[in-house]
Amino acid sequence: MACIAHDAIGYKGFSKVSVYEPSYSALMSSRGFEVPGRLCSLSQTMHVMEDGSVRPCPYIPYPLGNVMKNGLKDLWRRLKEDKFLQGLCDVNRVKGKCSECSFKEVCGGCRARAYWMLGDYFVEDKVCVLM
Ligand code: SF4
Repeated sequence: MACIAHDAIGYKGFSKVSVYEPSYSALMSSRGFEVPGRLCSLSQTMHVMEDGSVRPCPYIPYPLGNVMKNGLKDLWRRLKEDKFLQGLCDVNRVKGKCSECSFKEVCGGCRARAYWMLGDYFVEDKVCVLM
C-alpha cells in the first residue's frame, strides 16, 4: 500500500493500517467475518500529547501524568491499574442500545465519542454503523 509518510522518508517496509472505529468490528462480525476482538486500544496504548501529558486515548481528556515528570513505567502502571479506565473497558457497563447489542463483546461503541456527543462515557454510541 502506498503511504505518503513512508514515501517521504524512503521507507520500503511493511505498512500496517490500524482502524480505530469500534463498530467496524461489529459490522465485520455481522457479515460473517471472524474478528479478533475489540478494535479500541483504550488501556492498551499510551498517547503522549503535545504538552507531554499522557492519555489512555487521544480523545479522552483523562491525563494519567506527564512524561516530563513521570517515568514511562510509572505511567504504564497507572494506565493498567486505573479503576475508571477499567470501568470504561467493561462492556457490561455500557448503557442504551450498546447494552442490548449482540455485538458488544467485539465492539462496545466508542466511549470517547459517547462522552463528547452526550456528556457520558457510558451511553450508547450514536455513530454506530449498525443502529
Ligand atoms: S450498538 Fe453499540 S455495541 Fe452494538 S455495534 Fe453499535 S456501537 Fe457497537
